[in-house]
Amino acid sequence: MFVCLMCCRSAGLCLARALRSGACVRAPAFPPLQSFSEEESMMRDAVKKFAQERIAPFVSKMDEDSVMDADVISALFEQGLMGIEIGAEYGGTGSSFFSSILVIEELAKVDPSVSVLCDIQNTLINTLLMNLGTEEQKQLYLPRLASDTVGSFCLSESESGSDAFSLKTKAEKHKDYYSINGSKMWISNAEHAGVFLVMANAEPAAGYRGITCFIVDRDTDGLHIGRKENKLGLRASSTCPLTFDSMKVHEKNILGKVGHGYKYAIGMLNGGRIGIAAQMLGLAQGCFDHTVPYTRQRMQFGKRIFDFQGMQHQIAHVATQLEAARLLTYNAARLKEAGRSFIKEACMAKYFSAEVAALTASKCIEWMGGVGFTKDYPIEKYYRDCKIGTIYEGTTNIQLSTMAKMIDQEYDG
Ligand SMILES: Cc1cc2nc3c(=O)[nH]c(=O)nc-3n(C[C@H](O)[C@H](O)[C@H](O)COP(=O)(O)OP(=O)(O)OC[C@H]3O[C@@H](n4cnc5c(N)ncnc54)[C@H](O)[C@@H]3O)c2cc1C
Repeated sequence: MFVCLMCCRSAGLCLARALRSGACVRAPAFPPLQSFSEEESMMRDAVKKFAQERIAPFVSKMDEDSVMDADVISALFEQGLMGIEIGAEYGGTGSSFFSSILVIEELAKVDPSVSVLCDIQNTLINTLLMNLGTEEQKQLYLPRLASDTVGSFCLSESESGSDAFSLKTKAEKHKDYYSINGSKMWISNAEHAGVFLVMANAEPAAGYRGITCFIVDRDTDGLHIGRKENKLGLRASSTCPLTFDSMKVHEKNILGKVGHGYKYAIGMLNGGRIGIAAQMLGLAQGCFDHTVPYTRQRMQFGKRIFDFQGMQHQIAHVATQLEAARLLTYNAARLKEAGRSFIKEACMAKYFSAEVAALTASKCIEWMGGVGFTKDYPIEKYYRDCKIGTIYEGTTNIQLSTMAKMIDQEYDG
């Protein structure tokens, strides 16, 4: 079976013609994983250019000040990067999940903080609203999310991290609204968010089967956004605690069904992990791309340091790890897009890419010697930024446990 590149017909239709005229050009039916549609390639190239021009000049200052530049956020919206999969009818870019993954990767090469802003918006917030929103909710929120409003995903609490569904935030029903009391921890992008998807338990007696997802606007009475955390890495990405003090949310702001929040969170985080894998992959590649040219210029013992076999073997090893992380990530994304089972593969991609990011950033500092350890080069920032990959959207242990559970099931009689 082959597809003709000239006439775009499959073998059944054009094999005879191909044999007769020799006009048909054989293309593999199963292209390599690193094959992109024209749209995906265009998007990737445009984001690469955009990141260099509109983000790179601000990265160091944003990290130092621990602030995301407002112009960078506006530019992401202007470029259509905050509503990648949102349909054109809601003002979005109308592109694919795989394109989002390429965008997240490209942004992370330049700044993993900007990348995670785009990642959470596209893989969690927009996807939840697109999949579960009523038409009224979609009309109200999707155009805003595509054009000017950052969203935050609010699941973790101080006492419930890996054990996320033991959350304590409660939503008590009164007539046509809920009164929400409790708190959240570690909420990314909360400093700038205009809308929050909050998981709260509306039927505590039902345990985790009471968890419900509420759409909460920033100006809702009773919502308090605390001081952002002073973090090791991803410093430009705000991470804040939230408190809900009798926060009144109308029942029309329930996203999906009452008591189904845990299912939605699991579902979204499965896909979200591919986004984090792409972020870690981009981080590692960006770090590698800054470092290899240095090793080709730096002279010691009368040679480029790249020319020492001890260096070459390490560089080739890291390049191989990067390639493997990319294949795992792209494969998980393509499986998801194809509507096939992808949970184990997403965990593998996230787990492995986070490991590769840590290895790459650590090695790159060593390869640059003393200057790699200074803030004159961006390598030390990649080293700080990479650590989060083993923590959020499920720690490394949680990824491994999920994979093991699935492997166990695969061997059931
Ligand atoms: C920068 C940052 C941004 C974040 N953004 C968000 C966000 O936007 N929204 C949100 O809801 N949350 C967010 N989080 C929270 C994040 O998802 C949690 O930190 C993460 O799930 C881990 O929870 P924890 O910190 O409570 O660690 P814990 O769950 O206490 O884990 C501590 C250690 O124990 C291990 N452990 C726990 N349980 C098990 C187990 N069963 N088996 C083996 N090992 C185990 C873990 O692997 C880890 O090594 C963010 C966190 C950070 C740091």
